[in-house]
Amino acid sequence: MRGKGGEKKVRLKHVNPHITCGLCRGYLIDATTITECLHTFCKSCIVKYLDKHNSCPNCGLVIHQSYPKNYISHDRTMQDIVYKIVAELQEKEEKRERDFYDSRGILPPRAIADNEVEKQQPPVPKVDQDVDYHRKDEQVNICLECSGTQLKGLKKRYIRCSSQATVTHIKKFIALKIYHTPDRFKDVDVLCNEEILGKDHTLKFVVVTRWGFKDCPLLLQYRPRLEIS
Ligand SMILES: [Zn+2]
Ligand SMILES: [Zn+2]
Repeated sequence: MRGKGGEKKVRLKHVNPHITCGLCRGYLIDATTITECLHTFCKSCIVKYLDKHNSCPNCGLVIHQSYPKNYISHDRTMQDIVYKIVAELQEKEEKRERDFYDSRGILPPRAIADNEVEKQQPPVPKVDQDVDYHRKDEQVNICLECSGTQLKGLKKRYIRCSSQATVTHIKKFIALKIYHTPDRFKDVDVLCNEEILGKDHTLKFVVVTRWGFKDCPLLLQYRPRLEIS
């Protein structure tokens, strides 16, 4: 199952559980995260669910006895991750498939039964509307730098996201890239100016308090979490 190639072995079907909604099984739309356990669902799915329940549909944690909806929040960064991954992985898989058939000089089944295959593909969320929505947010340019030798660097070190995203979002993004699952975000420390950043800080807060509005991208380092013994 898991090969030596690391990132090359990532397939959409392995990542899908992390970017799909446990309630509707589709890709996350208006990703909304329960702040108490960090499980993410589509906004409409979780709002409807919490009309009748007060616990997380994924882990069962009681969010709040009476007002569970006060503990969910729109997760822009997770939504960006969904869009990015879906686009990137689909592109990669299509290329892999094309190369496979090209090298054998045969037509891919997709070309033969194009219409049929198209129907079976997972629905890709409509990106355009939401991208406009994100643009209304103040954006932060970030350079993610690997510190320490145990981890490989990211292919794309420069990312851009909402200033309202938190350090936890960045950790999830990094964990997804290096461990292939956002669930391992607690294994990653993110630092600015050699100081470990608190998980709940927004990027806005980090820029204001740690970076001082410098003109260049916010430079963040990441490294495996150090166990204190
Ligand atoms: Zn859903
Ligand atoms: Zn949960």
